[in-house]
Amino acid sequence: MIISIQPNTSQQAVSEIVSILDSAKVRYHRTQFGGKHVFVTEGFSSDVHRLLQNTRGLETCQVIDKPFPLCHFSMRPEGSVLRIRDFVVGQGNFAIIAGPCTVETEKQVLESAQRVKASGATALRGGAYKPRTSPYAFQGLKLEGLKILQKVSKETGLVTVTEAMSSEEVKMVAEYADVVQIGTRNAQNYRLLETCGEARVPILLKRGFSNTLEEFLMSAEYILAGGNEQVILCERGIRTFETYVRYTLSVSAIPALKSMTHLPVIVDPSHAAGSADLVPALSYASVAAGADGLLVEVHPDPEHALCDGRQSLTPEEFAEMTQICGRIREHLPGASAVLQPKRQRVAF
Ligand code: PEP
Ligand code: MN
Repeated sequence: MIISIQPNTSQQAVSEIVSILDSAKVRYHRTQFGGKHVFVTEGFSSDVHRLLQNTRGLETCQVIDKPFPLCHFSMRPEGSVLRIRDFVVGQGNFAIIAGPCTVETEKQVLESAQRVKASGATALRGGAYKPRTSPYAFQGLKLEGLKILQKVSKETGLVTVTEAMSSEEVKMVAEYADVVQIGTRNAQNYRLLETCGEARVPILLKRGFSNTLEEFLMSAEYILAGGNEQVILCERGIRTFETYVRYTLSVSAIPALKSMTHLPVIVDPSHAAGSADLVPALSYASVAAGADGLLVEVHPDPEHALCDGRQSLTPEEFAEMTQICGRIREHLPGASAVLQPKRQRVAF
């Protein structure tokens, strides 16, 4: 159950609600959602539901039979929207985040930023703290990388998105960048997700490459449970038996997630594909399936990139791809281009 309290409710009225929960031995978590105090209970109690109906200060008591109640679609049927300057994602707004895998030099980041901005990107990506599978691979420029991103953001106006891998890094990244990315390898690092919940900074949460959609949403739930609703979900491919591609992009995750949650859903075709030639097709499929945005790796000189050059588009390829994405969007149904399934899922 989600028990929502009316604004300006007296402390005494809130205490009465707490005592109803306590006497029924219902476990609950107290947080904020949509600017209101809410209690999220574990499980459903019809007694508590009945007792609460006549309580002062109660706004709603919703029964959501899913383990991700705050992320659940019914909490905000109109969908969530995240706005940072020109970067707007969700509620029919389509956003493109693009840039190199990793920050290498100021020149490389500035050139990437100018080129992707000219093609319609409103946010710049670039890793400063890199999660590398090998400990011997380039680990990122760390603080120096964050400073470069901040400088380029000031020059171009682009919003910046960059990864953090530990709670300390979340705090560091939040000082220099606009959006903190949590990568696939940390998608179920619950202490880290709790830090993201406490932070008052937007979070781009990638799907763990072996996570079900429900597990993915439960990871997002950790962030919302901490009172941070500014979350963008990112499908970036899952691990399957297929090895020809780096991961397998789950296109079905896009409409499925959009029917499960109010959070914006974007797609990273680059890490799913692992090779640049596949990135445009995956992007077009994602746009057509109703994604709220794309996160794409673009490098001015992919051949000499320090990381993920193979899957990085050149600025020219990116320009052509974004134009085609725009044309596909024009053909999507509805002004908002949000594809909500027209009927409930059939139970087998
Ligand atoms: C990235 O975006 O730089 C990245 C490492 O992605 P993922 O966590 O999806 O592998
Ligand atoms: Mn990369």
